[in-house]
Amino acid sequence: MVMTGAGVSSESGIPTFRGPVGLWNNHRPEDLATPEAFENDPSLVWEWYDWRRLLVLDAEPNPAHYAISDLELYYPEFLVVTQNVDGLHRRAGSQKVLELHGSITRARCYSSPDHIEPLQKNQKLKEYPPCCPECGEILRPDVLWFGESYDEEILSECLLFAQDCDLILVVGTSGAVGVPAAIVGTAIQKGAISVEVNPEESSLTQGVDFYINGKAGEFMPKIISELQRSQ
Ligand code: NAD
Repeated sequence: MVMTGAGVSSESGIPTFRGPVGLWNNHRPEDLATPEAFENDPSLVWEWYDWRRLLVLDAEPNPAHYAISDLELYYPEFLVVTQNVDGLHRRAGSQKVLELHGSITRARCYSSPDHIEPLQKNQKLKEYPPCCPECGEILRPDVLWFGESYDEEILSECLLFAQDCDLILVVGTSGAVGVPAAIVGTAIQKGAISVEVNPEESSLTQGVDFYINGKAGEFMPKIISELQRSQ
């Protein structure tokens, strides 16, 4: 099992939330990625998401994403759980991916959540906030905001997998978000060997078996080629 966070995409040029470049127009992500922020100023929140969406569509997967997608070919029982909303794991070829926090390339209706709208075009939205083509209500980004509940089906699939896995690779996450940290904790408690890759120690570092102090794009391909050699 692999758990990834924003750090796995930072070498693709996508800023993490908690690094020095995580600020946008002097707003902190914690102040924008909330239901309250959206209710107060949906246009501002959409402007930020549109900026991030275009960054993501312009970016390419990096060697860490490709190394993780290679792993899937060697292990029939395999899962990537990502906190990222950028879709780069899938673009690198990973098929067994659960996106805990949704996707920035989709919107959903604020009133009717089953109205999902893809936002694939590589251009700015025409208006902030955009409107649902089905019912005319405003759309919201199809992502999980701070303070919202996780999709129960996705969460239980992650936890079931974590309980049973032999090895968990924890890549590019600060461990600051509780649920992903708890999924990692479950795998460790249930006996999985744990390996973290992060150029800075995180709140998970103390609990892992092996900590690799380095960048994902550099070290994931090395780890994967070692695993392949031992197969
Ligand atoms: P975070 O910003 O809290 O932490 C990022 C972590 O990545 C840090 O520990 C940092 O040391 C590490 N890191 C930085 N560069 C790295 C590299 N080259 N290789 C490996 N590690 C590196 O991110 P988080 O823990 O994912 O939590 C933030 C939340 O923000 C998540 O919920 C996520 O949904 C969201 N987010 C997503 C994206 C994205 O989709 N790319 C980007 C920013 C934030």
